[in-house]
Amino acid sequence: MSSSIEIALTPEQVYEAGGRLAVEAARFTGYGWMRGTSGNISEVVSREPLRLAVTASGLDKGELRAADVAVVGPRGESVAVEGVEPLRPSAEAGLHARVAALTGADAVVHVHALNAVVAGRRWPGGVLLRDVETLKGIGRLAHDDEVTVPVIRNSQDMGELGDWFEAAYDPRTPAVIVADHGLYAWGTDLKHARHVTECVEWLLAYALATA
Ligand SMILES: [Zn+2]
Repeated sequence: MSSSIEIALTPEQVYEAGGRLAVEAARFTGYGWMRGTSGNISEVVSREPLRLAVTASGLDKGELRAADVAVVGPRGESVAVEGVEPLRPSAEAGLHARVAALTGADAVVHVHALNAVVAGRRWPGGVLLRDVETLKGIGRLAHDDEVTVPVIRNSQDMGELGDWFEAAYDPRTPAVIVADHGLYAWGTDLKHARHVTECVEWLLAYALATA
């Protein structure tokens, strides 16, 4: 836990990120991928030291305001920013930070999309995809490219989950399924991460529909 006040970040930076996260969360809620208060979205607001703005815990993701944002460090721990009301981050923020650190992504999306959970249950060793145009949407090839979306076990321990993520993740594939839970996907910014999430969810639906 950091008790010191962060001076590198301004409230404007944090709340501008919060506004962008709220817009994305509303969109994903519209897709039905953030039911109840599930799911979270984050954006890297500082790389050194690593700081993420992440949607605050326990809120309806379809109704977020710019101020409904928490700031966390590399282990998902709350970081105080002067002028920013400290809100509680989701425990899952720890995995967001791990994903951002490991992959270099500047935006991470976590949704409880049904197709991700069903595909993870059907193919616990990973979901194999090939020869479909939408693979280009996640930076892979439409033909002759064998793509596996890794599936890792679920855990409430974010350190353990992060270790499994690190062991399973393929730098060429910007998504990982957490079994019996949901999907993590990432990109160079929020829009890219959204496009990746949309395409991965479509690919998982396609795999299930054509299996
Ligand atoms: Zn979750």
